[in-house]
Amino acid sequence: MGTAEPQVASTQAQAPTIDGFQLVIDALKLNGIDTIYGLPGIPITDLTRRAQADGLRVLSFRHEQNAGYAASIAGFLTQKPGICLTVSAPGFLNGLNSLAHATVNCFPMILISGSSEREIVDLQQGDYEEMDQLAIARPVAKAAFRVLHAEDIGVGIARAIRAAVSGRPGGVYLDLPAKLFAQSIEAEAGAKSLIRVVDPAPRQIPAPDAVKRALDLLKAAKKPLIILGKGAAYAQADADIRALVEKTGIPYLPMSMAKGLLPDTHELCASAARSFVLPGADVVMLIGARLNWLLSHGKGKTWGGKGHKDWGGQKFIQVDISPQEADSNVRIDAPLVGDIGSCVSALLAGMGPGWAKPPADWLDAVHGKKTANVARMAETLAKNPSPMNFHSALNVVRDIVKANPEAMFVNEGANALDFTRSIVDMYKPRKRIDVGTWGIMGVGMGYCIAAAVESGQEVIAIEGDSAFGFSGMEVETICRYNLPVCIVIMNNNGVYKGTDVNPRGGDVAPTVFVKDARYEKLMEAFGGVGVYAKTPAELRKAMEEAIRSRRPTLINAVIDETAGTESGRITSLNPTAKKK
Ligand code: ADP
Ligand code: MG
Repeated sequence: MGTAEPQVASTQAQAPTIDGFQLVIDALKLNGIDTIYGLPGIPITDLTRRAQADGLRVLSFRHEQNAGYAASIAGFLTQKPGICLTVSAPGFLNGLNSLAHATVNCFPMILISGSSEREIVDLQQGDYEEMDQLAIARPVAKAAFRVLHAEDIGVGIARAIRAAVSGRPGGVYLDLPAKLFAQSIEAEAGAKSLIRVVDPAPRQIPAPDAVKRALDLLKAAKKPLIILGKGAAYAQADADIRALVEKTGIPYLPMSMAKGLLPDTHELCASAARSFVLPGADVVMLIGARLNWLLSHGKGKTWGGKGHKDWGGQKFIQVDISPQEADSNVRIDAPLVGDIGSCVSALLAGMGPGWAKPPADWLDAVHGKKTANVARMAETLAKNPSPMNFHSALNVVRDIVKANPEAMFVNEGANALDFTRSIVDMYKPRKRIDVGTWGIMGVGMGYCIAAAVESGQEVIAIEGDSAFGFSGMEVETICRYNLPVCIVIMNNNGVYKGTDVNPRGGDVAPTVFVKDARYEKLMEAFGGVGVYAKTPAELRKAMEEAIRSRRPTLINAVIDETAGTESGRITSLNPTAKKK
């Protein structure tokens, strides 16, 4: 043994090191990720503390599902992956719902979960919170990765980011076992191992022949229609999308979360003539919208088909980043694959000067239908029944949103969702965030928190009383971070409505809640403002004050308990309701 050896060893011992916790934080920061939505606990508590100490914003929730929904919608709003951080097994499972939600809705999100020791998990020896999380996450994630060595953290996070935001965005799972966080490597090697992802969501330019095919079809159309989906909202190509609609002069239908991409009051907006334009159109251009159940799969009576499985004869153009989306339900005559920004600008460039607007008889017919329906709705909205119903309450919300077009708008429920979607106009892109592709309940408070954090704007949430219950405890989180959130609970004493009766007596019916529940006191319990509102005037005053003060506010809007229908507008999906 030479004398030099102990010297080398001591030099190594003195070389600065970096641990797994720090590498994760540095890798996120290096990639411009500045916010974590999560819930601390073993083994990630120190990760949340150190991330906060290092300047990341760490928002701590009361339940992982809500943190996950927050992360998913942050991804939608920012085009950066929303980060949800959970503990192992049960925390991970609670976060899994939102991971699936992100994947299904095409929102970029990364669920990072701590996990137990691989050696013990794989031999099923009964570790603390033992679970093979990677295997469980994989089927509901766009991609799933696990990092076992500190020097791979940089690669793991880079791959997770790319998978989440490139192509069709989605939910990504990143498994970080407890042991990884404590691993230390030389700081210099650690720094070198990190990757700043270059061009994480590369533009995907559509092929010129596909652009021409789409334009030829559009040009020949007598009754064209454009459908804008939340993919179009996500793409942040707002000016080009507006130019495309206006230059072609084609009526358009915004899907729920595409409302406001152009103002709902735009003369070409056909929302109020939906049941006329879908069966009536001859060529339909889908932009970032899928022909799933929300569009009756492109066939059946909604589309002018005779029976359930019949196609109405429309030709379809589909602009989408996923090459596999076309033909998923009906034939797509002109698939246009690429990112929406690139596709729409290629369409605009290809149109050239002298593009003829659609035939006047189509435009007039759409306009006529729309005007009649709007007038009918205005009559209903002007009524002031006692007790207040959905319409008279939403008439107030409609005015408040019109006066505050920059406010973020969260919406969930059954009837509270359907009525709100059709009554409350949106004026700006990416303001309306709601139940999405699955039509789920539970996104409410998570969405409110992320919307406030990511936008800095006031948030208005219109919640069914049932929907609110899924995430209601997060009012504490809203108060803790003093977020400008105004929650309006459409309280009709139950699921769908509050009038069901148990024919045998005893317990109340499964759809019925405590009568005249005082939800507003939940907000007061944490220092926010609670308001009990029985009239549109009281509701208006409370909402105006909430927007003005930016204080966390919960308005218990008492609605006629007989208002509302079974399953809202999707009664047809409910076998029991169908028989009734
Ligand atoms: P909606 O429910 O509003 O109809 P969907 O979620 O069904 O919307 O459809 C969104 C579509 O948008 C998905 O097929 C997705 O692949 C696509 N998409 C998402 N982001 C982009 C993008 N940047 N460019 C092109 N297509 C996109
Ligand atoms: Mg209800």
